[in-house]
Amino acid sequence: ERLVSEQADAQERSLEQSIRPHSLDEYIGQNRMKENLKIFIQAAKQREETLDHVLLFGPPGLGKTTLASIIAREMEGNLRITSGPAVERTGDLAAILTSIEPGDILFIDEIHRLPRAIEEVLYSAMEDFSLDIVIGKGGAARSIRIDLPPFTLVGATTRAGALSAPLRDRFGVLCRLEYYQIEELKQIILRSAGILNVQIAPEAALEIAKRSRGTPRIANRLLRRVRDYAEVKGNGRISGPLAFEALDRLQVDRMGLDPIDHKLLMALIEKFRGGPVGLEAIAATIGEEAETIEDVYEPFLLQIGFIQRTPRGRMATPLAYRHFQLEVPDKWKE
Ligand code: ADP
Repeated sequence: ERLVSEQADAQERSLEQSIRPHSLDEYIGQNRMKENLKIFIQAAKQREETLDHVLLFGPPGLGKTTLASIIAREMEGNLRITSGPAVERTGDLAAILTSIEPGDILFIDEIHRLPRAIEEVLYSAMEDFSLDIVIGKGGAARSIRIDLPPFTLVGATTRAGALSAPLRDRFGVLCRLEYYQIEELKQIILRSAGILNVQIAPEAALEIAKRSRGTPRIANRLLRRVRDYAEVKGNGRISGPLAFEALDRLQVDRMGLDPIDHKLLMALIEKFRGGPVGLEAIAATIGEEAETIEDVYEPFLLQIGFIQRTPRGRMATPLAYRHFQLEVPDKWKE
């Protein structure tokens, strides 16, 4: 199982569930967004209305699902969860929408993957809480309108750009999740360690934080792997030196890069002379899906400035060369 993978498996999900923050106050970081959300939630409650539809976007593992459940809790509504790929037919969505109760929070993960025809059903549901569906075929076909109770749609996507403009425009609240600061990740790790009943030295938490590529899901995963190591090789307590050793063994380097990041960067540097090169060519060379590279690996490499996106493709930057102790090519020296 990969450290950076997009999805969490079932066991992981249940562990994540146990360490998931339940309120905005427990939700660490993303301060500006949190302050805004608090105000919108309070205002909606004062007016006794539902919260406007919320679009959460940002890389995987930054806390979108967590936020959706917090919003449901704070708004005292039921959380209903589905995802773009799970909704295959218009009827699937109609079934979900017609079972909604007043004040429910409907969470649609990977909302950019909803087929366009289904997406269109959402427009009137979001705009005036009604559902227009066509029943029957050919000449006998007629359109009926069903009124829905007021609800809040919370959509999550790794790519806001992949959302159609009409859908995006129907969200009143847009929240962009940013990669977390190292201090924030350290707090998240210490909090999770407390819940998991693991003893951890502050410098160990800091080291795990540094290697978590700005992502709480990875921070929590690394914490659990390092805990395993501490239980088997030590006395269960995570000291600084033990964390270093365990993380090195897990092949997560000092920047949080894993073997696939290495493969990607080295392909870019060695096979394509540092680029620019198209995403598809990189994907083919390292045997990964272009979409996975774009959604999971690339955002962090862009964030730390190891690659650049140019109109002609991706380039490895001097920072990447230096990370591998390689000489920076002349094209960067002009
Ligand atoms: P996403 O839906 O964006 O992929 P999740 O909401 O599933 O991410 O979060 C992944 C894990 O990270 C969860 O276990 C959650 O507990 C933890 N997490 C995310 N954001 C925070 C945060 N702000 N504070 C503490 N833990 C967080």
